[in-house]
Amino acid sequence: MSSNSIEPQLPSPLEPFRLKHWPENAPKVWVKRDDLIHPIISGNKWRKLAYAELLNDEQVISIGGGYSNHLHALAFKCLIEGRNFTALVRGNYSKNPTPMLNDLTSWGCNIHYITKVEYARRDSPEFQGWLHDTFGKHTFIPEGGSTNHAVRGIQDMMKEVFFQSEALNFSPDLFMAPVASGATLAGMITGAKASQCVLGIAVLKGQDYLEKQVSRFLPSETPTWSINHTFTHDGYAKKTPALTAFCTQINTQEQLQIEPVYSGKVFFALDQLITNHAFKSSQNIVVIHTGGLQGARAS
Ligand SMILES: *Cc1c(COP(=O)(O)O)cnc(C)c1O
Repeated sequence: MSSNSIEPQLPSPLEPFRLKHWPENAPKVWVKRDDLIHPIISGNKWRKLAYAELLNDEQVISIGGGYSNHLHALAFKCLIEGRNFTALVRGNYSKNPTPMLNDLTSWGCNIHYITKVEYARRDSPEFQGWLHDTFGKHTFIPEGGSTNHAVRGIQDMMKEVFFQSEALNFSPDLFMAPVASGATLAGMITGAKASQCVLGIAVLKGQDYLEKQVSRFLPSETPTWSINHTFTHDGYAKKTPALTAFCTQINTQEQLQIEPVYSGKVFFALDQLITNHAFKSSQNIVVIHTGGLQGARAS
């Protein structure tokens, strides 16, 4: 990927979406195209990093997996802002780097592989101590970029939807998005109106765990929200034949692209819930396309 374009496309488009086989009285669906914000820093990772406090002169360090959309987005942000970036990557890909890691290398990032055991201790004081001993002074951005700043960035996305839906003459009843570290859903919940509902689609197995991940960013009073755990397709970054077939169908027949880790699971859930009449036909549903297509590139 080579694009030094920094100008984000904001507000991202809000577009109607309908699959041919949906029943006549299916609810109305719109897609918030955050996947179109930026060719590289895409989707919710652009939103989540918009208010990140990267101090001048300090190197930036973050952590994630070998396909991480977050590391990819943050690495490019550091490149265009002229900052030194170190990615702590779970697992050792040095002999077989992913397309994401190849991009980081070509952008001059420092890649430091850590073991799964080290990764599991990432939130401990010992790990933070090790970071300081090894890398010196730095700004640490947690996994997925999930901080209170990230929640604020997502709230801006919700504000865009309010203005856009008003212009399009409808009022959203329900918002849908994938859930991994939870900050995106938290931003949607805190940005929604009291009368609106927010539905997260779990992309990994984590009943209760994911609810806790979201709740850590929430005040005591919130609009109604929940997480549906039935569409994980065996776990994080796992896929079933049904999910693969669904993604292929959308990518060949519709005007948008999805991938199986995040957006594929959300659109799959949307399709299942609509065909099973889980929503009222009077509902207006806004699905957030959180981007992430870089992660689907084959190694
Ligand atoms: C990271 C990511 C998510 C998950 O967002 P969280 O805030 O961690 O829940 C969803 N979709 C895409 C495309 C992502 O890259």
